[in-house]
Amino acid sequence: MKYDYLVVGAGLYGAVFAHEAMQKGKKVLVVDKRPHIAGNIYTEDVNGIRVHRYGAHIFHTSDKKVWDYVNRFAEFNNYINSPIARYHDELYNLPFNMNTFSKMWGIATPAEAKKIIHDQIEDLHITEPKNLEEQALSLVGRDVYEKLIKGYTEKQWGRPCTELPAFIIRRLPLRFVYDNNYFNDRYQGIPIGGYTQIVEKLLDGADVRLNCDFRKNREELEAMADRILYTGQIDQYYDYKLGVLEYRSVRFETEELDTDNFQGNAVVNYTAREVPYTRIIEHKHFEFGKQDHTIISREYSSEWKKGDEPYYPVNNARNNALYEEYRKLAQSETRVRFGGRLGAYKYYDMDKVIAAALAFCDDELK
Ligand code: UDP
Repeated sequence: MKYDYLVVGAGLYGAVFAHEAMQKGKKVLVVDKRPHIAGNIYTEDVNGIRVHRYGAHIFHTSDKKVWDYVNRFAEFNNYINSPIARYHDELYNLPFNMNTFSKMWGIATPAEAKKIIHDQIEDLHITEPKNLEEQALSLVGRDVYEKLIKGYTEKQWGRPCTELPAFIIRRLPLRFVYDNNYFNDRYQGIPIGGYTQIVEKLLDGADVRLNCDFRKNREELEAMADRILYTGQIDQYYDYKLGVLEYRSVRFETEELDTDNFQGNAVVNYTAREVPYTRIIEHKHFEFGKQDHTIISREYSSEWKKGDEPYYPVNNARNNALYEEYRKLAQSETRVRFGGRLGAYKYYDMDKVIAAALAFCDDELK
């Protein structure tokens, strides 16, 4: 056999593993069915503006080890994510904080905001939120839920909020101070030079085959390495034999515009149900761009079907139980391991991907 490892998928998880394996003297082959490396964190230069081709990626973490790790491969700028939510003609700050509440209710103090939220949900008697709707209502009350959460979430996930897990909304901070930072994390930024170069550096020294679909070249590829790390969809690896795991997919309509500033912010969420897209990204603002033109992407969410790119695992009870069955199957593999957002079927942020990959390395490469 020519290689110690075959890594299927050139995204962040696979690239971190490939890098660490090479540090230990292993020979690594990385394959990806796309024509480029970096998976969904792929960024590319389009007329002088760095475009996040598969949606906005903002790096944030409280894990010092992960932060130090990525900083070995890129310097980060001081971008702080502060999205705007647009509900018809009303504009609000995100995440849910005193700026949001004072605009919504014309109030000024945390005590006033808390009282309004309390009064709006008093009669619901929610003790243990059972789903996203109950979780959202109990955190922010009915007005914020109706205007800023319900429509957006149902577009994004294609399911009623009562059928979605509560953890999805707990990703967002809720605070009673005037602070529009979307994340609570200690460290945050966008890599200067983009994400693709991070993956390029991680893969330095590995053989990389692009436009190479593992499933179409399975026998040949499996024979080329001792062990395999599979970072694609775990159910697809098994030909969906236990059932199909659900995902949301995303479609982007990207446009170059002859104006230097289209929306004044990198991210504007359109929270009304009637607007077909969920958000508009204006890429230059991630890097404080001064170009005289701009590039925007409208983001449309859809149910994943075979052949689409999967983006978000739908971690409801049915899918988590099915994933558990696949995981058991995977545990009986002797030379194949699974990881990453698709291999582990988890709504991972980038820092969690790196942490999981490093933990896997500790185990696999010891
Ligand atoms: N969300 C919302 N309104 C918003 C932004 C987010 O209701 O304006 C909810 C929605 O359910 C979404 C979840 O919060 O799926 C998590 O949002 P986040 O921005 O973390 O999602 P991502 O950037 O990963 O798509």
